[in-house]
Amino acid sequence: MKYALVTGGSRGIGAAICKALAKEGYPVIINYVSREDAALEVKREIESSGGCAELLKFNVADLKETDAALDGWMASHPDDYIAVLVNNAGIRRDGLLMWMEDADWYDVINIHLNGFFHTTRKLITPMAKKKWGRVVSVASLSGIKGMPGQTNYSAAKGGVIAATKALALEVAKRKVTVNAVAPGFVETDMTKELDQNTLRETIPAGRFGTAEEVADLVCFLSSDKASYITGQVVEINGGLNT
Ligand code: NAP
Repeated sequence: MKYALVTGGSRGIGAAICKALAKEGYPVIINYVSREDAALEVKREIESSGGCAELLKFNVADLKETDAALDGWMASHPDDYIAVLVNNAGIRRDGLLMWMEDADWYDVINIHLNGFFHTTRKLITPMAKKKWGRVVSVASLSGIKGMPGQTNYSAAKGGVIAATKALALEVAKRKVTVNAVAPGFVETDMTKELDQNTLRETIPAGRFGTAEEVADLVCFLSSDKASYITGQVVEINGGLNT
């Protein structure tokens, strides 16, 4: 059976991706790091709509923890494989570089960029062996154009975008596609303290995006219909970068 793993699936964009992939018929593995209550709520919603979901707690920034969790999952599912990997887990620790604390740099790089490495290296081999796989990473407009106050976050997301392009070339012949999506402003816990009234004036569409809109794009890139799309970064930002 083909499973889908969504890192940071307990809240926001990741939760919407879990629900959308479950609607497509995937059994979904909901990863989270601290909010078990939120992860359980996503699982309950999926199951009440007739889907299948399970929780898998691990910190994507921690190589040993990620390896142990994924090895454990593989050992308990000998006939299954994770065919769709969505690298979505993330945090923001904004601040000007000149005053940035060490932890704010390293935590952001570790979760986004090293997190991509920890999950993807592990799961790309089974995908290549089975000759079907999808890796979709949630990057950001910040990783394309750079945003002041986000040198850590822009560097991490820019790194994920570059890694996506390189890995896509390594596995294209194995029918594994590797893409990224780059949202602008999306209404989630991560953006709840931002001033939407001021910011929406800078967005041509005049509003923040929804987690469900990003999830639909991720679902499409994860589908058979997107078999010829690889190494791409698809922007979803209401025209913000046009
Ligand atoms: P969110 O609502 O704050 O949710 C973050 C998710 O990531 C939670 O499920 C959280 O798990 C998980 N997480 C955080 N650190 C983790 C770790 N070390 N290991 C495993 N899981 C971890 O954020 P969001 O807005 O949905 O963001 C999702 C992704 O979209 C992020 O990569 C973000 O950078 C990107 N993005 C967001 C926006 C936006 O405007 N919201 C724009 C562009 C890109 P717990 O619930 O257990 O804490």
